[in-house]
Amino acid sequence: MKLVLFGKNGQVGWELQRALAPLGELIALDSRSTDYCGDLLNPEGIRQTILSIKPDIIVNAAAYTAVDKAESDAETAHIVNSVTPGVMAEAAAACGAWLVHYSTDYVFPGGGNTPWQETDNAAPLNVYGQTKLEGEHRIARVCNKYLIFRTSWVYASRGNNFAKTMIRLGKQKEILAVINDQYGAPTSAELLADCTAYALMQARQKPDVAGIYHLAAAGETTWHEYAQYVLNSVEKHTELAVRTVNAVQTTAYPTPARRPNNSRMNCDKFQRTFELTLPHWTRGVGRMLDELFSITL
Ligand code: NDP
Repeated sequence: MKLVLFGKNGQVGWELQRALAPLGELIALDSRSTDYCGDLLNPEGIRQTILSIKPDIIVNAAAYTAVDKAESDAETAHIVNSVTPGVMAEAAAACGAWLVHYSTDYVFPGGGNTPWQETDNAAPLNVYGQTKLEGEHRIARVCNKYLIFRTSWVYASRGNNFAKTMIRLGKQKEILAVINDQYGAPTSAELLADCTAYALMQARQKPDVAGIYHLAAAGETTWHEYAQYVLNSVEKHTELAVRTVNAVQTTAYPTPARRPNNSRMNCDKFQRTFELTLPHWTRGVGRMLDELFSITL
């Protein structure tokens, strides 16, 4: 079996390189790849890549993810998040390949406190969310064999993440202020990659699983509670200066892009369809912290 992965060096892309490897011959690309075009700003180049490789599976982990920058760079976000995923779907249909794509809780308006279901009306608050929603629509219009996973609050051990920032600030400052009116579930890139590989294996046997799914870790938290969890977990490993973590509202940190307050995702459809139980968010974050400190020590 042949697989093509776009966005191999992103948080999710990096983990996918590991998780997809046992499924077959994996060709992993990024925007600088030279053997094949992996640049999503070049939709026709991406089409040629897919048509010449003729893969069985295409996984798109590339995206324009700079949420605030997208407000003033909408055209670039539109090409990367909407136009090119649509072209990938056309090429997937031409090859009979499966297409896996990731989307976001930011397609929802963020009101209320009920976890969003796949059937709820999308109404993004920002350009990033609009472009991701349009990408979903373009895919669903032109191919049948697709899996779109909408996820939230993604982190990875590699590179920067919220937990590492909190630890760094916690070492420097006595008082921190963290948002406590946005609700969601921190979801590890590792979990997303493992669930993707597992879902793909099932999809090959049961093509009727094609569709859109919410996929995030279980439970819910706020950035404030998440920060406290991280700091409490690491205080036995490292000396912290922080004494108080104040809870503040989103309005305390004005940003160009509006963000939803309610990013809770109802993942029942994913769990039912693929017969998996998604772990509580503290499992993945705890594991990442253990890994961080076992490497540091
Ligand atoms: P990252 O920002 O970590 O990775 C995105 C990748 O896309 C980067 O490797 C980047 O490469 C690549 N990319 C950007 N522009 C192009 C381009 N023109 N051509 C090729 N590659 C490009 O994102 P995540 O791994 O966190 O996100 C994976 C998916 O999950 C995305 O679809 C995202 O929308 C979705 N998602 C993410 C959330 C999050 O909290 N991060 C939340 C909800 C959904 P380079 O760095 O070289 O530009």
